[in-house]
Amino acid sequence: MNEIIIPRNSLIVLCGPAGSGKSTWAATRFSPTQVVSSDECRALVSDDPANQSVSGHAFELMHFIIEKRLELGRLTVADATNLRCEHRRTLIQIARRFHFNIVVIVFDASAETCLSRNAARRRKVPQDALMNQHALLENTLKTIDREGFNRVFRLDEDSQSNTPVRIGRYVSRRPPRAAP
Ligand code: ATP
Ligand code: MG
Repeated sequence: MNEIIIPRNSLIVLCGPAGSGKSTWAATRFSPTQVVSSDECRALVSDDPANQSVSGHAFELMHFIIEKRLELGRLTVADATNLRCEHRRTLIQIARRFHFNIVVIVFDASAETCLSRNAARRRKVPQDALMNQHALLENTLKTIDREGFNRVFRLDEDSQSNTPVRIGRYVSRRPPRAAP
C-alpha cells in the first residue's frame, strides 16, 4: 500500500490491541480535536483514563461526541481497541445515520511488539488482557472485509510509520433522490 486516502467526510475507526500504536499514529496525523478516544472519555467522566469500571459511561460519551461531530460534518477518528464486531457495528451505524464514509484502520502488530511497547510506557495494560485482545485481533482480520466498512486498511508494523495518509475529496454516501 503506497498511500492511505481517506474521504474528507469519514469516520475513521482505529482497531487494534493495547500497545499496537493507535493513539501514537493518530496523534501525529490528526489534530487533537479530531481524535475522540475512549481513554480520554474515561478520564472525562472519572478522572482516570484507565478506569475500566466506567466504560459504559465513557462509550456513551464517546458516541455522543462522535455523533455531534458527524452532524456538523467533521472528519473524526474513533480511538479505542474496537476489537469486537458488535462495537464496530455501532460505529458503522452512527456513520451511516449521518451519511458519512466509514473507514477502518487495523493495527496488525505482533503480540511481542504490543507487549514490549506496553511494558515501556507509563499506562500498562495487564499482560493477560493484552493477550486476549491480540486473539480478538486475529478474529477481526478474518471478518473485517465483510462488516460493511467503505474502506479497510491493514497496517503492519512497518507500514504504520511508513504509509502516508492523505485526506481526499468528499465522497457522497447520501442515497440518490427519487426521480420526480
Ligand atoms: P491503547 O489501546 O492501550 O491505548 P495504543 O494502540 O493507543 O494502546 P499507543 O499508546 O499509541 O498504543 O502506543 C503504545 C506505546 O508504543 C507507546 O509508548 C508508543 O510510544 C509506542 N509506539 C507506538 N507506535 C510506535 C511505533 N510505530 N514504533 C515504536 N513505538 C511505538
Ligand atoms: Mg491509545
